[in-house]
Amino acid sequence: MPGDPFTIAAHAGGVFDETTGGVVPPLQPSTTFRRGPAISEDYVYRRYAHPGAEAVENVAAQLDGGSAALVFGSGMAALSAVLESVPMGGHVVAPVVMYHGGQDWFRSQADIGRISLTLFDSDDPGALEQALTQATDLLWIETPTNPMWGLIDIADAVELGHRVGATVVVDSTVAPPVTTRPLDLGADIVFHSATKYYNGHSDVLAGILIAAKPDERWERIQAVRGSHGSILAPFDAWLLLRGIRTMPLRYTRACQSAAAIAAVFEHHPRVERVLYPGLESHPGHEIAVRQMTGGFGAMMSILVNGDAAEARRVAASTRLFANATSLGGVESLIEHRASYQTTPVPPNLLRVSVGIEDPDELIADLGQALGG
Ligand SMILES: *Cc1c(COP(=O)(O)O)cnc(C)c1O
Repeated sequence: MPGDPFTIAAHAGGVFDETTGGVVPPLQPSTTFRRGPAISEDYVYRRYAHPGAEAVENVAAQLDGGSAALVFGSGMAALSAVLESVPMGGHVVAPVVMYHGGQDWFRSQADIGRISLTLFDSDDPGALEQALTQATDLLWIETPTNPMWGLIDIADAVELGHRVGATVVVDSTVAPPVTTRPLDLGADIVFHSATKYYNGHSDVLAGILIAAKPDERWERIQAVRGSHGSILAPFDAWLLLRGIRTMPLRYTRACQSAAAIAAVFEHHPRVERVLYPGLESHPGHEIAVRQMTGGFGAMMSILVNGDAAEARRVAASTRLFANATSLGGVESLIEHRASYQTTPVPPNLLRVSVGIEDPDELIADLGQALGG
């Protein structure tokens, strides 16, 4: 079995279609599958499983070194299914700074008493241990943390979580398995918003969960997906497979460009600070060196000299960077985060998603937008 992510990804979906010899997998949209002794019983009804979803799951499990995977119609659908696996009133621990949509959902479920929630400050060394109790059911972490790109040491968090018997889930959207494999560091489940680097072309919403081993919780998650019908649809699964084939290539390229951009703007006169895990000045750099072995990511935040209005002006002045939310696509994006985000964020912060364009042209574009 090939172990290199470039090879695994390039062959996503298999290299040929058994019935026709086509070198790409067929698109099978059927909602129901014929039963019979000669027919595979793997598929019965599309809400539970279908060949396109399964092809994505196979490659995702291989890339992250897991034993099972489930693909959903969005990252949030996958996150919600994980949360549904928490028993009534169960205790969930998550970081203060994390993907805001996920945290909003955790909070709303805590507000109605469905779960109890403790948020911990991941910059405070003792905070996670304090947040965990013997009753903690689920520890959700994200690293690097959106939008400050702070690092959480996965192996340390796993050790603390497992000490109290919690299931540890890692949102590794920003650090796909080209650079970080949380299951190798002891995590129970990896989460990816496949909307981002996995698909990479800003045209599919999808979420993937990968399990170290399928246990009772995993069966509950699978049952939730089957009942909600939140499995990814066949055409989206087909597009996602196409995206995955170039994911390592796109991600590696974007990481290299991001490193170059961060190095240039760290010392720019109109910039207060650049937050990028690859910079030695970044507070999480040491952990990043250990944990992001294939590149420091393609996400960074640029804190401009000035206030929110100045940051908004810069975001509106780029020509190559589109002023839009999201990340992980081939096109570079820039966004004034404080205008949209519900978790704490500095007013002068611009979140940048580096795409696969020419890095020198991206540097020139940011330079003209900053001015001076
Ligand atoms: C986008 C994102 C999500 C949510 O995924 P969707 O596919 O948009 O539902 C979760 N976590 C992170 C880090 C993200 O960037």
